[in-house]
Amino acid sequence: MSRADEIPVAESWPMFKWLWASYLNPYKWPVSISFVLMALEGSMMGFLAYVLKPMFDQVFVEGNQETMKWVALSIMGIFIVRGVSGMIQKMIMNWVGQKSSAAIRRDLLEHVMKLDTAFHNNHPPGHLITRVSGDAGSLASVWRGFILGVGRDLVSVISLTAVAISIDWRWTLIALIGAPLLMVPILIVQRFVRTQSRRSRMLASDIVVRMDEIFHGINQIKLNALEDYQHTRFVSLQDESIAISLQSNFSRALIPTLVDVITGVGFVGVLYFAGGEILAGDKTIGEFMSFFTAMLLVFEPLRRLAGLAGSWQDFASGLERVKHLFDLKPSIVSAPGAIRVPPERPEIRLDNVSLAYGELPVLRQTSFVAEAGKTTALVGPSGAGKSTVFNIVTRLVDPDQGQVTIGGRPSKEIELGTLRSMFAVVTQESLLFDETLRENITLGRDNVSDEELQRALEAAHVTDFVDQLLKGLDSDVGARGNLLSGGQRQRVAIARALLRDAPILLLDEATSALDVKSEAVVQKALDRLSAGRTTIVIAHRLSTVRDADKIVVMNQGRVIEEGTHDQLLAKNGAYAELYRTQFRLDETEPA
Ligand code: ADP
Repeated sequence: MSRADEIPVAESWPMFKWLWASYLNPYKWPVSISFVLMALEGSMMGFLAYVLKPMFDQVFVEGNQETMKWVALSIMGIFIVRGVSGMIQKMIMNWVGQKSSAAIRRDLLEHVMKLDTAFHNNHPPGHLITRVSGDAGSLASVWRGFILGVGRDLVSVISLTAVAISIDWRWTLIALIGAPLLMVPILIVQRFVRTQSRRSRMLASDIVVRMDEIFHGINQIKLNALEDYQHTRFVSLQDESIAISLQSNFSRALIPTLVDVITGVGFVGVLYFAGGEILAGDKTIGEFMSFFTAMLLVFEPLRRLAGLAGSWQDFASGLERVKHLFDLKPSIVSAPGAIRVPPERPEIRLDNVSLAYGELPVLRQTSFVAEAGKTTALVGPSGAGKSTVFNIVTRLVDPDQGQVTIGGRPSKEIELGTLRSMFAVVTQESLLFDETLRENITLGRDNVSDEELQRALEAAHVTDFVDQLLKGLDSDVGARGNLLSGGQRQRVAIARALLRDAPILLLDEATSALDVKSEAVVQKALDRLSAGRTTIVIAHRLSTVRDADKIVVMNQGRVIEEGTHDQLLAKNGAYAELYRTQFRLDETEPA
């Protein structure tokens, strides 16, 4: 599988700053409030440890009833404040997390749609789906857990340590003396988790790609009995993903375990040291209990903080993937000052246009003119570069050299949206969306009048079959239109193009998909569609080629001949040869 999904390791901190500036800054007030509440929640633990001292010394040892009352009230207050602030703060952070990740997804999708066709050719949909949906979404959950944890736990640790120090700084020192030893394993684990997390995300997107291909190609898989093969490939990806995730979880679990061991040693040290002082009467039981509770309570947040090293890496690897995608810029953009008014007479001119895909030259100094309002047919063997001409005039790709002008304007000087609105494209794989027939024809335009729609349906011969569908125009066409036949799909595409009423028509005649009867119907529909429009047609039909105002013959990316049918036949060159071999059969058939 291609590793187009592989991206360079990025520094975490600048990425986080970008995330903050772009997506979290609007929520700075809710986040600040949340932090205050976290601090409140965390500090309550310190208070709890603190009130244990009077409880033991004044209530249990001295038997002071009055103190017992306020100790009880304080404990109650501590838990109420902790509970309420915890809840509000979680709600706020949840809200911020959802909102910000929805914004990231929205922008990412918009951005990815703008990226060049070349980018999309190299990035299978599965990879992009994982990035937009999975990675952006996981950011929110990691970020929520992360921030929630850091804020509250940090304050807990600080307040509890403060209580411990206030009781005896030497005891605290003994208890925490092993903590610096944790730094080395934390750093090692961080590195490892980052690597694993990156691999795990790449695998996750590979798994989606595999599923996408399986479901897209389900009929091919069944017909070629590829179920086992696909299944095995899927399982092996999944096994690898599980292995990585287990390794990563194991190494993450290691740090809290080390915290346990080191704290255990610290406890024993304190017990030994403090025990002597209490026996000697230098310290009270209350002081010891308070200290001991603080140490017990500091333990849990400390473990969690130590575990955060791993979450941070998870977060960073998700962020890295999202940010990397945002950093890619489309190269096909409107020139500064591009016009937004379509040129009047949409004559299309290719001027020495060359294009190579990698090493492979696809167009070599191709030049021809498609006159406004006329039909120009492109003919030539498969692979000659005919479809590439379509992609170049619509700017799905830009040529390496040469230029395309439309109505005398270089196409780059026409704003991209305006340029594309000038074209209606009907190709062999005209894509239908998984929506109703009506939605597929109107394509989101809600200003289409009933008469307009009706005219288009009739002209495209959609009316011929629409009544046979159970719900008429409101019938679903299925994924990629698979509930319709090839001929029906094409007529839908023609109706769409008629409604679009664009001045330029690009037509890739797909005869192969159609039976003789549908072909005749589609042909009639196409004739109506192309009337009066600048039409470039990749021609397969004899009639189109004959009737075209001009025929451009292409071979290996070059224009080798051009002229009318009669001129080219008289020339007796490549076209005449092509015509004789390719269309001999058709000629013998009655027209
Ligand atoms: P035609 O429409 O005349 O059959 P095309 O324009 O589709 O020819 O393709 C011309 C050549 O360009 C073919 O050799 C094809 O393999 C190559 N080609 C088309 N698109 C791409 C692409 N995105 N990446 C690499 N090669 C491509």
